Amino acid sequence: MSKNAPSAHPAGSSLLPSARRRALLRAGSLVLLLGHQHLARGASILAVRIWPAQDYSRVTIESDRQLVARQFFVATPPRLAVDIEGIDLSPSLRELVAKVQPDDPNIAGIRVGQNAPGVVRLVIDLKQAALPQVFSLPPVAAYQHRLVFDLYPEQAPDPLEALIAERLRDASAPPRPTLVAAAPSAGADPLEELIARHSNASAAEPGPGLALPLPAAPPAPPTLPPAPPPRPASPARATDRLIIIALDPGHGGEDPGAIGPGGTREKDVVLRVAHRLRDRINATSIGGNPMRAFLTRDGDYFVPLATRVDKARRVQADLFISIHADAFTNPAARGASVFALSESGASSSAARWLANKENQADLIGGVNLGARQDRHVQRVLLDMSTTAQINDSLKLGSVLLGEIGGMARLHKPRVEQAGFAVLKAPDIPSVLVETAFISNPEEEAKLRSAAYQEQLADALMRGITRYFAKNPPLARSRTV
Ligand SMILES: [Zn+2]
Repeated sequence: MSKNAPSAHPAGSSLLPSARRRALLRAGSLVLLLGHQHLARGASILAVRIWPAQDYSRVTIESDRQLVARQFFVATPPRLAVDIEGIDLSPSLRELVAKVQPDDPNIAGIRVGQNAPGVVRLVIDLKQAALPQVFSLPPVAAYQHRLVFDLYPEQAPDPLEALIAERLRDASAPPRPTLVAAAPSAGADPLEELIARHSNASAAEPGPGLALPLPAAPPAPPTLPPAPPPRPASPARATDRLIIIALDPGHGGEDPGAIGPGGTREKDVVLRVAHRLRDRINATSIGGNPMRAFLTRDGDYFVPLATRVDKARRVQADLFISIHADAFTNPAARGASVFALSESGASSSAARWLANKENQADLIGGVNLGARQDRHVQRVLLDMSTTAQINDSLKLGSVLLGEIGGMARLHKPRVEQAGFAVLKAPDIPSVLVETAFISNPEEEAKLRSAAYQEQLADALMRGITRYFAKNPPLARSRTV
């Protein structure tokens, strides 16, 4: 709906006088312009929400009519000022002020005031330089109109750096894990390079051996550029080979996922299961090589599906396990299931239904369709082949299913396939585990219980170990 009038355009046809409009544009502001008939007059604020997270903090204003907002970013001190038209200051808007948490990584505070008749000014004071995104979302699911402010830190946290820092913290405590010389080709591996840079560990004997007693890395898929020429192994590159398991707790933030009859939210129970599985992974080694869990979401905030995949690829995860607990229209539906990606249609209509439902997460969670980076990530994923990935994913899925079947009822005895957007990392075996049906009252009660979450985490851990016993992790030679 935004109307992009050139400066020569007569001022009378736009909502703002052209001089003021040019000034706004010069100031780097984004103007969300709507037709006069769409202007919110007397819109009611239904709810305000804040979702703080390291990645970004989000402020959502939900209203019964679409709000018109003009935003101005001021660099020093960093703050985002937003004029919202067609509303008056209300107690619900004032709630935002008290909702800011002291430990919000990005937001220092929020101020609201009546700037002019019918115009409320909101000032979001920031803790650091930020890249704000302001956008509107049309009504979807249980939500009416949403006006969203996403505040990304200018210096985005690097998941790989964070993972390594955490690993090194743990590794600095005795006993120190065995260090082995990295494979010659591992010079191309950003993970190992970073570890080498961060680590002042004494060098192991440089040698031509791989980090693991395993077959050499497979040739790169044809879609990838050729690997760089091997570098000689040097003491600086000596490091242990981290085996990284990406855990992907479904939903989060504005997207609660499925909600059980007792009010249990999918986003909460799957995060708890992921934390329990993370503890087990971080305490496990495969062939003497330590494992590390990487969570695509470690808090209650929304992460777009393509971003989850992108994060796992950036840390060069060895496996990707998305954790869910969904609902079905029939409350009698029960049992766990495991899904892999399908390139050519779903393995059943139920699998297709579920994949469609999961793929809606971006609509409910609220993705900024105008953001360039997200579009780029999605296009990259579309262009890559996934045949080999699907074969490995089916192997991973069937060992996980076998282990879950030992402690819980299964919904289907085999791995199902459908076009889940979150399973599309072309180079990482990826599965989606539906731990149970949260819509089934009995299974909802189990999902809430710590004992059941522990059993699930145990079963998944056994499955991961069994998968690596049959399919040893390869020396890292992937090009990202
Ligand atoms: Zn789900």
